[in-house]
Amino acid sequence: MRWAVLGGGLAGVTLARLLHEREHEVRVFEREPEPGGLCRSRTEKGFTFDSGGSHVIFSQDAEVLAFMHRVLGENREVRERKTKIFYKGRYVKYPFENGLADLPKEDLFFCIYEFVKTLIAAEKGELDPPANFRDWMYRTFGKGIAESYLIPYNEKIWKLPPEKMSCHWVEGRIPRPPVEDVIRSAIGIETVGYTHQAVFSYPRSGGIEALVTAIAGPIKNFISTNSPVTSVTRKGDGFVVRAGNQTVQADQVVSTIPLPALLSCLEDVPEDVTDACQGLRSTALLSVFLGLEGEVPPYSWVYVPSPEIGLFNRVSFPSNYSPSVAPQGHASILAEITCMREDPLFSTRDGEITDHVIKGLLKMAILEDPRRIVYSAVERSPYAYVVYDLGYLEKIGVVRRFCEEQGIHLVGRFSRFEYLNMDGVIRSAMDFVKGQG
Ligand SMILES: Cc1cc2nc3c(=O)[nH]c(=O)nc-3n(C[C@H](O)[C@H](O)[C@H](O)COP(=O)(O)OP(=O)(O)OC[C@H]3O[C@@H](n4cnc5c(N)ncnc54)[C@H](O)[C@@H]3O)c2cc1C
Repeated sequence: MRWAVLGGGLAGVTLARLLHEREHEVRVFEREPEPGGLCRSRTEKGFTFDSGGSHVIFSQDAEVLAFMHRVLGENREVRERKTKIFYKGRYVKYPFENGLADLPKEDLFFCIYEFVKTLIAAEKGELDPPANFRDWMYRTFGKGIAESYLIPYNEKIWKLPPEKMSCHWVEGRIPRPPVEDVIRSAIGIETVGYTHQAVFSYPRSGGIEALVTAIAGPIKNFISTNSPVTSVTRKGDGFVVRAGNQTVQADQVVSTIPLPALLSCLEDVPEDVTDACQGLRSTALLSVFLGLEGEVPPYSWVYVPSPEIGLFNRVSFPSNYSPSVAPQGHASILAEITCMREDPLFSTRDGEITDHVIKGLLKMAILEDPRRIVYSAVERSPYAYVVYDLGYLEKIGVVRRFCEEQGIHLVGRFSRFEYLNMDGVIRSAMDFVKGQG
């Protein structure tokens, strides 16, 4: 069987490897000069940063985790998560509901009192099922935790009010806190939330791209880079794919490229399908890289809900994941800003964005003297996060049905248009290939 895989991000590369292992003939077409997509990394002046924002390796899926660890072999550092939330000038333990003792006393009271009230109301059956993401936050965590942290943070990252977001996706992704943990954390007894990420790993060298490179090892000769797919047409029982200056015939096509990019390659797409696809929301991402002399705080990353501190929602410290990603005596900071692709912010000059981040880091006391900075850069990812608005399930249904009718398989984050982490992407590639017999 001859397979054409559109897109050479983690999904495309993993699919190609798994299909190759089953002795299929496979070709991957990637638009960019390098494969990796959101999992690319760049090394300059001795600093390695993840281009699509800070990535770490973790999973509840034992098979997928073992696969990631196996392909990386010795090239892997293991770390305990040390993550904080910057709240009213304090570093509060993450997840917020496990860090309540770090809050000012009045805020702690507000959070625990509202949490207990919500719990009692739920026990008495007084709460309707949530109709949207905002309701879900109130009904799961109570008004205190929702208003102090969850709502400001989620508004900042999704660029959509949470009452306009669906909540079908949150179970299992945003952890539901056991009541005993919330009470323990409020009185200062150590608890750990979101435990499957409490220990994570990261490539010792090469940044997260090293994972894709390792997966791609056996199939690298079958990846065509600088090859944007421009058309996919049916021919007999198969397809003709045009990508860059190549035209190939394939028995099967799997797309891992964003759905809007795929639809632009197809002929005679009905208007309702185009409309549904255009209505699917996603955010873009600005990744701001800073390399500096000396040290950074000992954290893995810090969430920043407050808009007053800056536009960024998260600041990570890659040099705390692996010492090899910064020159000796140096450290690194990666700040992430989400925005809509059409927002002028997305094309704002690098210098302006970097200055904005530096001002925020000064407010957070992460940086006290900007003269320590010896390297800075900005990367732009047009597709970063899928945003589940209230019409999502209907719109995605229309687009997926159409692709299915065309015989085109969809695997990957923006091809499925789902909030999939690397483990979810690899799982869907594994399941897809197993399903081919
Ligand atoms: C800020 C951020 C942080 C994250 N952190 C983590 C983390 O810590 N852990 C984790 O597990 N996951 C994390 N993720 C998720 C992870 O990045 C994704 O799950 C994964 O990279 C998706 O891979 P993909 O191949 O499906 O998509 P992509 O990486 O988007 O790949 C799609 C590929 O298609 C190519 N393409 C597009 N159009 C065309 C075309 N016309 N022709 C040919 N090629 C084309 C693109 O160039 C790209 O290479 C994070 C994501 C973000 C945004």
